[in-house]
Amino acid sequence: MGNVVHDVLEWLYAERENGSSPSLEAALENLADRWTTGMTEEITVIRCSDRAHAYLITAREILERFHRGAFSRDRSRTVALEQRLNHRLSDDVVFTGFADRIGRTETGRLFVVDYKTSKKEGDPSEFSEGLQAPLYAACAMQRNDDSEALAGYHYLRHDSSHWQSVTIDRAGELLERFRQLAEETRAATEFDARPGVLCAWCGFNAICPAAEVPPALSGGFDKAREIKARTPGLFET
Ligand code: SF4
Repeated sequence: MGNVVHDVLEWLYAERENGSSPSLEAALENLADRWTTGMTEEITVIRCSDRAHAYLITAREILERFHRGAFSRDRSRTVALEQRLNHRLSDDVVFTGFADRIGRTETGRLFVVDYKTSKKEGDPSEFSEGLQAPLYAACAMQRNDDSEALAGYHYLRHDSSHWQSVTIDRAGELLERFRQLAEETRAATEFDARPGVLCAWCGFNAICPAAEVPPALSGGFDKAREIKARTPGLFET
């Protein structure tokens, strides 16, 4: 659902940059087309009590809220959509990310925004809001030769955005912190399993001996085991 909604948002802004004013009806039609095309037999619903159609309804609601709210209010200019950003942290460590949208406000201020379909809003102390978004802003500043940028998360289910300003100094600190995290990860030799509720969504759950997937959340687990059974060697390295 998140992927399809992101694709439609990208399409909306691309259309706007091309000089057209895509209507809500056109956006919903675009969503329906992408949904149908993307619904392959590998797609399944994790929560056994849910149905795929309920997610389509949620996606429609998200899109309606976005089109009537943030999109209609937005007077900013798009600089890039789904842009790959890189920053070399050391000789052999490169930070890479994909920014949903980079733009400039009406006053010319650079910003990077990431769209979230999560049920809950995050907070700036979390890994993603507190580190990912500002790192994207740091890369965008470098690429666009700006000394400051806004890093934002837009929570689509809530039509709310959280913004923080990233200066050159702050960008430098965050990049250094990420470099240290990357070095710690590379130096690690033990990777203990940490089973929990996210095992239900984990792409390795069909082969992980530590996986803990409750029956009510076994949609993906069952599908992965089914694919594994009919495709011998798929998970072998
Ligand atoms: S299935 Fe295994 S690898 Fe995946 S989250 Fe659970 S414990 Fe970690």
